[in-house]
Amino acid sequence: MALIVQKYGGTSMGSIERIKNVAQRVKRWHDNGHQVVVVVSAMSGETNRLIDLARQISKEPNAREYDQMVSTGEQVSISLLAMALNEIGVSAKSMTGGQVAIRTDDSHTKARIQHIDDSQIRAALDAGMVVVVAGFQGVDDKGDINTLGRGGSDTTGVALAAALSADECQIYTDVDGVYTTDPRVTPKAKKLSKITFEEMLEMASLGSKVLQIRSVEFAGKYQVPLRVLSSFDENADGKFDDDFKKNVGTLITTDEGDSMEQPIISGIAFNRDEAKVSILAVPDRPGIASSILSPISAANIEIDMIIQNIAENGLTDFTFTVNRGDFDKTLAILGDNLAEIGDKEIVSNNKVVKVSLVGVGMRSHAGVASKMFETLAENNINIQMISTSEIKISVLIQEEQLEKAVKALHTAFGLDREDGESKVAGL
Ligand code: ADP
Ligand code: ASP
Ligand code: MG
Repeated sequence: MALIVQKYGGTSMGSIERIKNVAQRVKRWHDNGHQVVVVVSAMSGETNRLIDLARQISKEPNAREYDQMVSTGEQVSISLLAMALNEIGVSAKSMTGGQVAIRTDDSHTKARIQHIDDSQIRAALDAGMVVVVAGFQGVDDKGDINTLGRGGSDTTGVALAAALSADECQIYTDVDGVYTTDPRVTPKAKKLSKITFEEMLEMASLGSKVLQIRSVEFAGKYQVPLRVLSSFDENADGKFDDDFKKNVGTLITTDEGDSMEQPIISGIAFNRDEAKVSILAVPDRPGIASSILSPISAANIEIDMIIQNIAENGLTDFTFTVNRGDFDKTLAILGDNLAEIGDKEIVSNNKVVKVSLVGVGMRSHAGVASKMFETLAENNINIQMISTSEIKISVLIQEEQLEKAVKALHTAFGLDREDGESKVAGL
């Protein structure tokens, strides 16, 4: 029999009815003789509600207090699910991150898991219990609660699966797998039966929120078999057989398969949280990029795409992007430092989005970029910035053109499903 770690997200835990549904699903796995550890998120909307409360008190809340509070959503979920399991005859025990002993560093709001003590979980599993663990949280060596960043329950799930050498980590969500692109943007998106870690890592880092990026990093590093699947699939019988392993959800795998048969592009990711800043006519001399960007990086703001235009008369335009949430802070820092680069004009735009094509097949195929640019041109979509790496190409475009761009690229790269219609559970 298998040891399975299952993670249920906010939508799957979104109401009492849904929590009862999760309990029934867990019971089926347990009844089939499997050992089950369940990681849960806060009920949908709860984490946002808590964050909003904090923001009403302070624009930049004390990080320790923020984590102490924002982690409570998961504490409610674990107890409700454990009660629901007990109610249907499954012996279950809930545990917070601290009770398990999920040890993190002390970078509040974006902590990393350093160590997990699996002894208590193993003891409970050996006693025939289901263990329900709070996602998104851990405790640092001072005993303070730290959270793992938005979507962090995925990472709790994978980290527990690694610590327990689980047979599989199953991420149950409101769609039935990883799609060629977000099925909410195009109903022609196709479910993938497999995707490589490398591609999933790019998809997640480029904005596909179906898995938190750290969970994919973790799974790749510790070779955790990882599957994304639906918590609303009515045929699930809790059997871990060949049929399940082959057909259910999407498996994240190290196997690149036969590259001849692989599509060039596996998926399209996008990120709506982009903002662009340009500084016009800065002197084209060594050190200029560093004098603009260093104070921004020093404030812990991540800079994404960068372009420096061709110099004219010894002057150049310097453009970069940051996360939209860091936009105001970035402009304020630039304002403070402008004198140093000679009081230049700043042009900014926080209504931009990044669209990216991802695929390991790109390594062996030329012409992906030109086809992408052609497709966007045919659709009158202006490209503001471009960045590429071995297995991805990203472009920055105006926000209102996102849907049109994703749909056109999805069709142009042959990703559309044949029957033309979305069959995504829950959408
Ligand atoms: P949970 O609350 O279960 O953690 P999330 O909202 O974090 O769920 O992630 C699931 C959502 O991810 C889906 O509802 C879907 O809109 C979105 N998504 C984005 N990109 C993709 C993709 N390529 N495949 C599937 N879902 C995607
Ligand atoms: N509840 C947290 C969030 O909303 C963690 C998670 O759901 O994974 O980000
Ligand atoms: Mg999520």
